[in-house]
Amino acid sequence: MNLDKQQIIQLLQDKEQQDALFKKADSVRHQYVGDEVHLRGLIEFSNICRNNCLYCGIRRGNSKVVRYHMTENELIDTARKAANIGFKTIVMQSGEDMYYTQDKMCRIIEAIKKFDVAITLSIGERTYDEYKAFREAGADRYLMRIETTDKDLYHKLDPEMSWQHRYDCLMMIKQLGYELGSGIMVGLPEQTVESIADDLLFLQEIGIDMAGIGPFIPHPQTPLANEAGGTLDLALRTMAVMRLMMPDINIPATTAMESLHPKGRIMALQAGANVVMPNVTEGEYRKLYELYPGKICVNDTPVHCRSCIGMKIEAIGRTIGKGYGAHKKSTNN
Ligand code: SAH
Repeated sequence: MNLDKQQIIQLLQDKEQQDALFKKADSVRHQYVGDEVHLRGLIEFSNICRNNCLYCGIRRGNSKVVRYHMTENELIDTARKAANIGFKTIVMQSGEDMYYTQDKMCRIIEAIKKFDVAITLSIGERTYDEYKAFREAGADRYLMRIETTDKDLYHKLDPEMSWQHRYDCLMMIKQLGYELGSGIMVGLPEQTVESIADDLLFLQEIGIDMAGIGPFIPHPQTPLANEAGGTLDLALRTMAVMRLMMPDINIPATTAMESLHPKGRIMALQAGANVVMPNVTEGEYRKLYELYPGKICVNDTPVHCRSCIGMKIEAIGRTIGKGYGAHKKSTNN
C-alpha cells in the first residue's frame, strides 16, 4: 500500500484506531507472507565496541560493562548447537569488535555454513572489501539499523559517527547481493512522529528485505539514562504501518518489545510481524550483552527459549517456518 507522509503520521498518532490498524496489518501479513513464523537463532558473540552511541549499554564509554568475546571455536560451537535444535538461520550480532578480522570472520562463516543454515551478520560498519569477503565466504543477509533518518538527531546520538557513512554501508551491502535488513528505534529523545514517518518512507525507498522496529529503552549507565524512552504502543503502530507499506518483507517481533511487556512479541506477531529471533547465546554472555535494561530470558538456555517461543507461536494458531525464511518478493504489491 502506498501511503503518503500525512497518512503515515495520522496512523502513527491515532491511539484510538490502533486496534483496527493492528488487525489490518495482521491480515496483510497473512495475505502476503502467510502464517509461518520464521525463527532466527541470535548469537551475541561480543560486547566489545569501538563506538560510543549515547543510547547503547555496550558503548565504549561504559566502563562498568564486563567485556567478552567468544573465541572462534566457541562461536562455531554455539551455531552448531543452534542448528541442531532446528534453527535454519543463524544471526551473529556484536559490537564493532576488531578482534574479528576479515580472515577470522570468513573462517567462521565458512564453518557455520556447513551446518545447512542461512547466515545473517549484524556487526556494524565495515569496509566494502570486508563486506565482499564475508559475502563470498557464505553470508546471506546483513542486518544494520539506520536507527533514525533524522541526520541531526543521529549525529547528536553519536557525534563520532556519520549518518552518510552508515547509509553508504547499507548501499554496499545491497549491491553485494545480501538480503538487506535495517530498521529504527522509536522513542528516541527529540524524535517526532514526522521523523518516524520519514524513516518508514526511507526504508520503503531503499528496498529492504527485512526491518526491525524497537522501542528505545534508556540504559542507566549511559548519558540517556534519564530520558523517557519509547512505548510499546508506538513501536507496534510503527511496525504495523510498515507492514501496510511493505507487505511482503520480513518483520521481526523484537526482543525490546518483549522487554517492555511480557507478551510484546506475541502482540507484534498479531500486528504484522512474521519473524522471531530467539537468543541462542549461552551462559553469562547473555547477561553481559546488555544493550538496554530489562532484557528478557537472560537466565534461560537456548533449548528452553526455542521451545517456549515455539509453544507461544502455536498457541496463537501460527506455525514455525521450516525453510530458511528468505524474503519472497511479491509481484502484486
Ligand atoms: N554493532 C551492530 C549491532 C548493534 S546492537 C550494529 O551497529 O548494527 C543492535 C541494535 O540494538 C542497534 O542497532 C539498536 O537499534 C538497538 N539498541 C541499542 N541500544 C538500545 C537501547 N538502549 N534501547 C533499545 N534498542 C537499542
